[in-house]
Amino acid sequence: TNVPRIQLNDGNTIPQLGFGVFRVDPAETDRIVADALDVGYRHLDTARIYANEQGVGRAIAASGIPREELFVTTKLWNDDQGTQSAFDAFDASLDRLGLDYVDLYLIHWPVAERGLYVPSWKALEQIRESGRARSIGVSNFLVHHLETLLAETDVVPAVDQIELHPYLQQPAVADFAARHGIAIEAWGPLGQGKYPLFELPEVAGSAAAHGVSPAQVVIRWHLQRGHIVFPKASSRAHIEQNFDVFGFELSDAEMDAITALERDGRVGSHPDEVN
Ligand code: NAD
Repeated sequence: TNVPRIQLNDGNTIPQLGFGVFRVDPAETDRIVADALDVGYRHLDTARIYANEQGVGRAIAASGIPREELFVTTKLWNDDQGTQSAFDAFDASLDRLGLDYVDLYLIHWPVAERGLYVPSWKALEQIRESGRARSIGVSNFLVHHLETLLAETDVVPAVDQIELHPYLQQPAVADFAARHGIAIEAWGPLGQGKYPLFELPEVAGSAAAHGVSPAQVVIRWHLQRGHIVFPKASSRAHIEQNFDVFGFELSDAEMDAITALERDGRVGSHPDEVN
């Protein structure tokens, strides 16, 4: 399958569909990531806090897939924000992954109360300069965090990875990002299973019409909205299904019906409340 690539504001490109490993048990990571690579995923999204970077790295090494065909993202955890601590945390992540570089390094949360995301970002700018992160970005940044970052630093983030699914589409962040060339990555794209998304008629109806599953409809909705998306799954069947989303297309009416589900329905933490 040829996954479309999105052009980032630094000239690099990213596969629009990837595989996320939040809450993938470290003991199972090797098998699950090996399955994902075998199915065809080439974009992996992990983080220091997921405690499975080593498994991701081992699965990459075992796959024999040339490094340049893979797109690997990891993230700077909140406790590691700062200048030297960000450099050290980045080195430790690279070590655990067993890689010479990552494709994308993100600040995981702004944790604005600590007042360290600006110096942390300046450290990421230097890491990018060194070539050990090809692109840099942020996660869970709201408009006010992005405004501060743009005012006080030089490099515009390549992406903002935010909670985004039909009940929470974050139009203010998405509009700001679009105006500044920041790509949107949707985390929790299936709502993390925390509301009956797959039973909603807007989703289930399209699934029946196209002969696909509700999860495939939601992933397809993200792709047609232009989001970068990396649903998480553990079973081989779901890993395969979530990658098999290029054989059908949602109509404008089907897209609009799902987009109309927006209700400011956050299922994860609010970025201003994570300290
Ligand atoms: P998700 O919305 O991808 O939901 C995953 C859940 O959906 C799992 O419980 C899985 O069993 C179920 N599922 C997956 N495929 C299915 C299918 N085909 N049919 C039925 N059920 C299916 O939630 P997520 O894992 O939280 O988000 C995806 C990725 O986003 C994560 O793995 C991680 O990489 C990233 N993420 C980032 C942050 C952040 O703060 N930056 C936070 C959470 C997640």
